[in-house]
Amino acid sequence: MKWPYDNKVGVKTTIKCDVVVLGGGLSGCFAAIAARKKGLSVAIVEKGAIEKSGAAGTGFDHWESACTNPCSKVTPEEIAYAYVDEQDHFSNGIFHYITCREGYDRLLDLEKMGGKIRDTDREFDGARFKDQGTDLMFAYDYENKFTLRVWGTTFKPALLKEMKRLGVQIYDHVEATALLTTTKNGKKIGSGAIGMNVRTGEMLIFEAKSTVLAMSRPARVWLFNADTPGLCEFRPFQSIGSGHAMGWRSGVEFTMMEKSVRAEFSAAGRSFPPYGTGNNHNTWYAATMVDARGVEIPYVDRDGKELTDYYDRYYPAKGQKYFLKGGVIDDPKYEYRGPETLDFKTLIERGYQLPFYADLSKMPELERKVIWGMMVGQEAKTSVPIYQNYNDRGFDPTTHKLQSYGTGWQSASFLDQERQFFGAPGGIMHDWDLKTNIDGIYACGDQLFASDCAGAACATGHYAGRKAAEYASNVEYVSYDVSLIENEEKRLYAPLYKENGIHWKELNMAIAKCMQNYCGGIKCDALLKEGLDLLETYERDIVPNLSCSNPHDLMRTHEVLDILTVSKLVIHACLARKCSNTSLCFERSDYAEKNPAWNKKHIVIHQEDGVVKTRDVELDYFGDLKQEYESRNKEYIKEVNNEN
Ligand SMILES: Cc1cc2nc3c(=O)[nH]c(=O)nc-3n(C[C@H](O)[C@H](O)[C@H](O)COP(=O)(O)OP(=O)(O)OC[C@H]3O[C@@H](n4cnc5c(N)ncnc54)[C@H](O)[C@@H]3O)c2cc1C
Repeated sequence: MKWPYDNKVGVKTTIKCDVVVLGGGLSGCFAAIAARKKGLSVAIVEKGAIEKSGAAGTGFDHWESACTNPCSKVTPEEIAYAYVDEQDHFSNGIFHYITCREGYDRLLDLEKMGGKIRDTDREFDGARFKDQGTDLMFAYDYENKFTLRVWGTTFKPALLKEMKRLGVQIYDHVEATALLTTTKNGKKIGSGAIGMNVRTGEMLIFEAKSTVLAMSRPARVWLFNADTPGLCEFRPFQSIGSGHAMGWRSGVEFTMMEKSVRAEFSAAGRSFPPYGTGNNHNTWYAATMVDARGVEIPYVDRDGKELTDYYDRYYPAKGQKYFLKGGVIDDPKYEYRGPETLDFKTLIERGYQLPFYADLSKMPELERKVIWGMMVGQEAKTSVPIYQNYNDRGFDPTTHKLQSYGTGWQSASFLDQERQFFGAPGGIMHDWDLKTNIDGIYACGDQLFASDCAGAACATGHYAGRKAAEYASNVEYVSYDVSLIENEEKRLYAPLYKENGIHWKELNMAIAKCMQNYCGGIKCDALLKEGLDLLETYERDIVPNLSCSNPHDLMRTHEVLDILTVSKLVIHACLARKCSNTSLCFERSDYAEKNPAWNKKHIVIHQEDGVVKTRDVELDYFGDLKQEYESRNKEYIKEVNNEN
């Protein structure tokens, strides 16, 4: 087939703006909007199409930590510190506090832009999860009301419309590939970014006073299946950690990159779409589960007490202040895989027979309807493949059951060496302005260390956008070394000029195997060094022989080059931590000590001219959350108070 777009390989176009945002997911869109509202010129660069790109592009069903909504019974401080405690302080207090404090403000913004956040159609009148005064609907903990059920499919189109209204310059189908920096008085400063149009091959140079990184987190480092590449991981295919790779190449600092968990979600094509099989987690909380004979499997509270009243599933146990789902915070007692009932093994021992099913027919009508009629229809990976397809084929939740495959409620099980960036993984280190160690470069959303969730992406995106704008308002543009552009041009186009070379899938497969073998479950210095050595042989022997036939394939090749960079970063981070650390799911065989007191610190890592440098940072470096936040955001607090 003839390539349908113009060939602009070799063409270079320069765009000048005050702020450039890289990545047009939830966080990037909010960063662009916040910066534009400060009156600055803003460009946003997105590899896909903003309307549907990113983890939330096809939707999401719940909004966490909306602690300031009018029905909430928890404070931002309570929930932010609860997360920090729950993650043994290998957590990001700044990120959590911004989310708890500003998340609900962003939800109100989304509503003004046209997103749906309330039951305005009155479909759920009378439901216990609905507040009749505000029409807001809550999930999981009906007592404390700080997680909202939302119509996430409406949000990305609304954000795009708002950016167009404000005059943000939108660059869809452009992959950011490198950061522009300059060194002034011995200090590195950001001065924009380089991108490539993934349809035409045109290079775009964004000259900006400040840059916001919003390109999510790495994927396909350990897990790859060449036959089903789009199903390799939980997050969207195009998000593979390019932001981390370009940050590392430019000297940006990272932390917790040694953390990886045994894969649990939609990996390597072995599982069903997340929340696509019968289960009772997240989207499906608190679905009734039955065994093969239709015998109901009882729910228990965090203390193991069997719940007899259906609605007790949504209320904290006696003496428990709050819970998210399955008691995730505030003294959790459930094993994650063991659901909110009993763990899988115990169920089998007690005589429950496989297969298990989610049986929505046994639930109160509005509880059933909010799961099948709303949550499954709004959640990213179930919206079309499950909700739409099953409805089209006659699935009726009042009579049909949905089978739970595999062991437990999860739809696949994995080996210890098959790992993932999941559960608040590592990422960019930052200060209270969400600024990296390089002046003029900010980060937000899933690119930050120990990050997760849609509300957090929106809140930190807005926050980073306004801080980046404040910075840009007070500095002059600094020029960069033009050799950066020349070198990037050579790097980006090289695979176009290699005939009959190696395909990107082969390199991705080789990296995944290397990472499984040398940086998988249990690690030691010798293994890690072997792994690094092998990755370096890939750089020498495979990279110069990569080839591709069009700009789209070229983009895929660039992605795998970034996966290679990220893999090296991960191994360097693992080498830097010289003992096991259970909070980081990090196990060493060559250091006997486990979780020693000296190990309770962040190891922050970056590279300069190829030399890896590390420093230690106190886990609670963020200080007193409320005090630090309020001292830095007086203007914002005033604005919010005036609006109310
Ligand atoms: C299936 C699924 C369901 C989820 N459900 C929920 C939920 O119900 N509630 C909740 O709170 N959270 C949920 N999450 C998590 C939540 O969606 C994410 O935490 C959030 O969307 C992250 O936003 P972000 O802007 O950081 O990243 P993303 O939204 O992923 O955006 C990153 C963007 O960067 C772009 N990009 C990547 N590389 C480049 C590059 N080199 N150049 C240019 N652009 C690039 C990508 O195309 C993407 O658009 C879910 C996630 C998934 C995957």
